[in-house]
Amino acid sequence: MSTFQNLGLQDNLLQAITDLGFEKPSEVQEKAIPILLDEETDLVALAQTGTGKTAAFGFPMLQKIQIDSRTTQGLILSPTRELCLQIANELKLYGKYCKGLNVVAIYGGASITEQAKQVKRGAQIIVATPGRMKDMINRRMVDISKIEYSVLDEADEMLNMGFYEDITSILSHTPDEKNTWLFSATMPKEVATIAKKFMYNPKEITVGHKNEGSKNVSHEYYTVNSRDRYQALKRLADANPDIFSVVFCRTKRDTQKVAEQLIDDGYNAGALHGDLSQNQRDLVMKAFRNKQIQMLVATDVAARGIDVDDVTHVINYQLPDEIETYTHRSGRTGRAGKTGVSMVIVSKSEVRKIKSIERIIKKQFVKKDIPDGAIICE
Ligand code: ADP
Ligand code: MG
Repeated sequence: MSTFQNLGLQDNLLQAITDLGFEKPSEVQEKAIPILLDEETDLVALAQTGTGKTAAFGFPMLQKIQIDSRTTQGLILSPTRELCLQIANELKLYGKYCKGLNVVAIYGGASITEQAKQVKRGAQIIVATPGRMKDMINRRMVDISKIEYSVLDEADEMLNMGFYEDITSILSHTPDEKNTWLFSATMPKEVATIAKKFMYNPKEITVGHKNEGSKNVSHEYYTVNSRDRYQALKRLADANPDIFSVVFCRTKRDTQKVAEQLIDDGYNAGALHGDLSQNQRDLVMKAFRNKQIQMLVATDVAARGIDVDDVTHVINYQLPDEIETYTHRSGRTGRAGKTGVSMVIVSKSEVRKIKSIERIIKKQFVKKDIPDGAIICE
């Protein structure tokens, strides 16, 4: 059996791993960590969501950079602001025994001068969203000319979001000799293209099947009349009193509306979408992580990468426009070896989409009936 010790990690990192309670490396960690520690190579790593990709690049990066230098040596690009903060916080935990380590998160919606100040104090690692990163480069608020390791996390999503140009421009400010590590849950053609463009002869590792969802998630669907969607959601919540869930809606407007309705109806809910200020977004994520909010109603801004412990259910209040997104949504539960349920509320005309999703995730849905609404009397 493989252990973190035999992967070649140093004692100060092993100590942090013990504190975190990680008993053994996940498959992607087992494969990626030794390569990244031992070789100066580019890497493409594909693994399902929830399998510990952050640690797979985070620990090698922490071990390889010079902590006693103040130069920025590691750059991690990630698609959303929430993810950026999450990765930075995670790295701080991994590096809690790396004295002098400074990890800075750079993302839009928060004070750029404050972020520039933090960078100026000397950040060995920057975790950034492409938009804000480019902005700070243009304003000469960061120097990434000494980067040795760059990570493209959720690379496919960054491309979906139209960050190709930004990424190209950012990487043009980094040295050619750096290593680039690309982590993704899926490998669409576009990712293969950037792998070619930005990487030199990358090694490739794949865990599980491409595009496949987490093994630990079971899938259910509930057919309702479109106008009964909200009632259905409430009954699902009532039937699962300990629910701790992300409820996905298609639009910002629906997200806000459903969250407000739930709050009015006495549920512990909050909304997360792009029309909120960054401060509001941070507050709601924090409340959700602290379990002060039981149902986080969100747009697909939360579909990627977000890792909150013990999410029991993902509820698709509406199906996403792109069925591939379903894999990512349902990946918010069943993380780190735990189990979870992904529920879909569909109208009769949408049932055929369930079949298409089944083909993508290679798993069957269970058709279920909305639990009785004894608690709700209209
Ligand atoms: P991914 O990026 O693949 O979606 P994350 O890096 O967000 O996954 O990790 C998912 C969860 O698993 C996190 O809560 C993380 O702390 C936990 N985790 C990571 N590695 C291990 C491990 N070896 N053992 C137990 N838990 C782990
Ligand atoms: Mg991740």
